[in-house]
Amino acid sequence: MAIRRILGKNEEILRKKSKSVKIINGRTNLLIDDMLETLADAHGAGLAAPQVGVLRRVVIVDVGEGPIVMINPKLTYTNGEQETVEGCLSVPGEWGITRRPMSIKAEYTDRDGNLMEIEASEMMAKAICHEIDHLDGILFTDKVLRMVKESELVFEDDDEGDGEGGESSEDSGASEGKSSKGASGDESSEAENSEKPFEVGSGEAAEAGNSESSEN
Ligand SMILES: [Zn+2]
Repeated sequence: MAIRRILGKNEEILRKKSKSVKIINGRTNLLIDDMLETLADAHGAGLAAPQVGVLRRVVIVDVGEGPIVMINPKLTYTNGEQETVEGCLSVPGEWGITRRPMSIKAEYTDRDGNLMEIEASEMMAKAICHEIDHLDGILFTDKVLRMVKESELVFEDDDEGDGEGGESSEDSGASEGKSSKGASGDESSEAENSEKPFEVGSGEAAEAGNSESSEN
């Protein structure tokens, strides 16, 4: 396991569309383990593979109840609206009000290859939408209604690095505060052609990917 560098908002990889995961193999599991460690280290509410330079449809969401790993996540239902403060580990120090569905349903594959369905609302719904957006090259700043200043944010406690377990949406935005800085690392090749423990059964754009080729 290793902590990976989190890309910043101006890095092009974040604007690309990620490919579906066809096979959950050793490399996929390594990616997931590294993402779990990276997310925990950054005290974020979620992390998507492109944020660590890998253009695969893998996200982790953790709004304080433990991390949920979602492979090929897809919204199947949305309802209502919420306007809350949102932040992103790739956009450190910036927060904005966004409009997201109040509740959602999503399908995904777990890391054991099981097709799962999740129902979520409020913070969790927002976090899942935010992470799925990353897989399509979308940042929250694209849909922000208005940016908010740090001084406008309400923190539940004095420790701004730790938003875990908070109930308020301001808290979740603040929790994504930390990040790494620039530099143009390129640790992005995740070839998916070793063993094949699991076939992933969700049918989306079946391009038998042989490499992550994040440059393109
Ligand atoms: Zn983000």
